[in-house]
Amino acid sequence: MKTDLKSLTKEELEAVLLEKGEKKYRAAQLYDWMHRHLADSFEQMGNLPKSLREKLSEDSEYTCLQTERLQQSALDGTRKYLFALKDGQMIESVWMPYHHGNSVCISSQAGCRMGCKFCASGIGGLIRNLSAAEMLDQIYRIQKDTGERVSNVVVMGTGEPLDNYEYLLRFLRLLTDENGLHISQRNVTVSTCGLVERIRALAEEKLAITLALSLHAPTDEKRKEIMPIAYKYSIRQIIDAVTEYGQTTGRRVTFEYSLIAGFNDSDEDAAKLSALAKEAGAHINLIPVNPVTEAGFSAPIRKEAEAFAKKLEKNRVNVTIRRTIGADIDAACGQLRRKYREESS
Ligand code: SAH
Repeated sequence: MKTDLKSLTKEELEAVLLEKGEKKYRAAQLYDWMHRHLADSFEQMGNLPKSLREKLSEDSEYTCLQTERLQQSALDGTRKYLFALKDGQMIESVWMPYHHGNSVCISSQAGCRMGCKFCASGIGGLIRNLSAAEMLDQIYRIQKDTGERVSNVVVMGTGEPLDNYEYLLRFLRLLTDENGLHISQRNVTVSTCGLVERIRALAEEKLAITLALSLHAPTDEKRKEIMPIAYKYSIRQIIDAVTEYGQTTGRRVTFEYSLIAGFNDSDEDAAKLSALAKEAGAHINLIPVNPVTEAGFSAPIRKEAEAFAKKLEKNRVNVTIRRTIGADIDAACGQLRRKYREESS
């Protein structure tokens, strides 16, 4: 297999170029083109000799995503990108402009094998992991396309990032590298359904990134009804792991909780959820569930979601209700990729 240049650290790139008989500074130039200027081809790399560019395009891989579809919300400016990968797989990413900075939500896998009942991304199962370059390039293409600096990245698109652990780590290092886009670790959030060993491993990396845990139910019984992963790890094990993550990294964790009417929004649910959040020192992000046709789940009305949030606040838990943005462009949870697959099948 050809070496994917954009997935390499600066040191690795130096080694590759030295091996090709090139000078070390060429690696710095190439790295700069890829990760700072966000070049979409070798041709743009004006200060590299043509012979080197030709050699590179022959014997190595240069990942650059193709925009297959782009939808912009008339309501809030959110943009949803459907990108084509080299092998024809489609992935989606979302750009969210905010006053305090622009945020991009990226996918970590093509498909997903976690099978959460309310989520459209898992419907076709896992197809494959994304490489570090494929994760990075979602951000690069979007920054290029919008002409605006991306300051926040959330790994909350399709896929379970901790199920693609090695490439995720490589991606995080390249994304936050001072010689690249240099996005602050504090502005990066990784969302997981709770793979306990990986949460512990990530804590050991001592990165200052925020961990978001998709909890969605306050008891194992209920969680098993909507998330198959709950058969593998108990809430007890997960809470211990995220609490430790918070302590080791000094970063407050977030619990994501999709509100499903009549399923996880009772007084008792609020009380149990509060206790778990307090124990882990977590902030809670309530997400009124986005309806996925087969599942038959619906979100509580706004007033009820607010009442649920109030109950948490009463217990002195920090809580926000996620704004629904991009609702007019299938921006939520794997919906665009899914529509595309349905149309082309
Ligand atoms: N696999 C990771 C990240 C991907 S999903 C994880 O589980 O966290 C990002 C978030 O969106 C998760 O909290 C996920 O549970 C949630 N989500 C997926 N489908 C949803 C839907 N239909 N409505 C509301 N939230 C949803």
